[in-house]
Amino acid sequence: MPKEPFNFPKADILVIDDTPENLNLLSAMLTEQGYKVRSVTKGSTGLRGANAVPPDLILLDVNMPEMNGYEVCQHLKASDRTREIPVIFISALGDVLDKVKAFAVGGVDYITKPFQLEEVLARIENHLTIWKLQQQLQAQNERLQQEIRDRAKAEEKFTKVFRSSPNPIAIATISEARFIDVNPSFLKMSGYCLEEVIGNTVAELNLGKEAVAIAQTIQLLSDTGPLYNQEFELSTKSGEVKTILLSIELIDLSGVQCALLIANDITERKRLENEFISLVSHELRTPLTSTMGALDLLGAGQLGTLTEQGQKVLSIATTNTERLIRLINDILDLERMKSVKIFMQKVKCNAADLLIMATETMQAMADKLQVKLIVHPLAIELWADPDRLLQTLTNLISNAIKFSEPGDTVWVSATLAEHKGVELRENDRSSTQSTLLPGFLLITIRDEGRGIPKDKLQIIFERFQQVDASDSRNKGGTGLGLAICRNIVQQHNGKIWVESILGEGSTFYVLLPLAAF
Ligand code: ADP
Repeated sequence: MPKEPFNFPKADILVIDDTPENLNLLSAMLTEQGYKVRSVTKGSTGLRGANAVPPDLILLDVNMPEMNGYEVCQHLKASDRTREIPVIFISALGDVLDKVKAFAVGGVDYITKPFQLEEVLARIENHLTIWKLQQQLQAQNERLQQEIRDRAKAEEKFTKVFRSSPNPIAIATISEARFIDVNPSFLKMSGYCLEEVIGNTVAELNLGKEAVAIAQTIQLLSDTGPLYNQEFELSTKSGEVKTILLSIELIDLSGVQCALLIANDITERKRLENEFISLVSHELRTPLTSTMGALDLLGAGQLGTLTEQGQKVLSIATTNTERLIRLINDILDLERMKSVKIFMQKVKCNAADLLIMATETMQAMADKLQVKLIVHPLAIELWADPDRLLQTLTNLISNAIKFSEPGDTVWVSATLAEHKGVELRENDRSSTQSTLLPGFLLITIRDEGRGIPKDKLQIIFERFQQVDASDSRNKGGTGLGLAICRNIVQQHNGKIWVESILGEGSTFYVLLPLAAF
């Protein structure tokens, strides 16, 4: 008979039979088929062998002196080491096989003489397959159990981190900006209890004038990407205003798109910083203004004619003084904007006018640096502070020109960006009415300049953050422009972000709601 390939190579079969002819026959037959066969003539020897090296299957004679097959099987099933091994009983010609007993003591099958080779092999292979599958199932089960234990441990770890984090953390749905979980630090900072927070939207919780902006940021998260360390003011339940740095990241919780909000309460730090900044700025502005006046006098030649070398030194002093004044003005600007005293003067204005005005203002700079400026305006009305938006656009265009090479192009364009699927519900949550958010204006300022490294894309919107420490020296900037832009855009309930490929260019995006809400 041809030797068939066996699925489980090296299957080890122990044959226990006191009749040498049987043993020889089975042994030869199985070896021929590629099995590894061990044969013994006594039950006790078989038990020892099975215990020493458990086989994959045992063929066990029923009738044996000393210890019969049933007893051997009982011993096998009593030991942890051999319990799982499938046992097939063999009954010789004329033996009385008690089938019920064979199964009762743990046998899986029986073979009666005369052996029919195909039948014996089929039964052996069946039981080996079943046994292997059982083993696999058991291993899989153990792996799953371990996985469940590991997951439970990880979950416990993360729950503990969430609960005991000193940073306020909240989870809200993206669709409605509705709180689904917050940690104790969040409750401590906001003054609300858990029941007052869960189920409410960010806008409903009365977190102050910037709550709508936060809700907006959450709802636009899938479009505009995560937010890192943006400054917001938050009112607590008792009405106290806190300054927080807020990071928002998109997470998927069992198929539900959620926002993970991590806050950092910087109220005290901010107060000290503000005090320090206004003190230093005011103290510096007065002497600097008078220095500038003195330099102007020198430059005008009213105090005598300067040598060529003197003119050069004076020009350096003037450039640097101008830069310092710009820096201080930017700092004061930013602080003034942040303090509640100055509000945006929002009026109806036309996006096309703003874009054209901004590019016209920057045209001279573009010409000087041999950068081509192309504008694609969009005539659409929006509710905004035109001066502040102009300031934002000129700053972005100036940066785009500044970080381009001669011969490069800067494109300024605007398109309508209807934001699908974002809904603001009425305050009354039982109401089925929902108001669609207004459309958005998306302004893009694209350049072919040096680009911005990936790890700086977020941070450049923070104060004094520059890609290169020498940027302020070489390019005359202050590192405050983008912080001011972000602030202005934020006060319009909009969003500003940048995409860039190093060495290929950057695109700054300003997304603004068309109508006030
Ligand atoms: P600055 O006054 O230095 O321009 P900004 O806040 O406007 O300050 O910009 C911060 C930094 O971001 C810049 O110093 C520069 O490193 C980087 N940056 C801004 N715009 C661009 C741009 N279009 N291309 C490359 N880098 C830019």
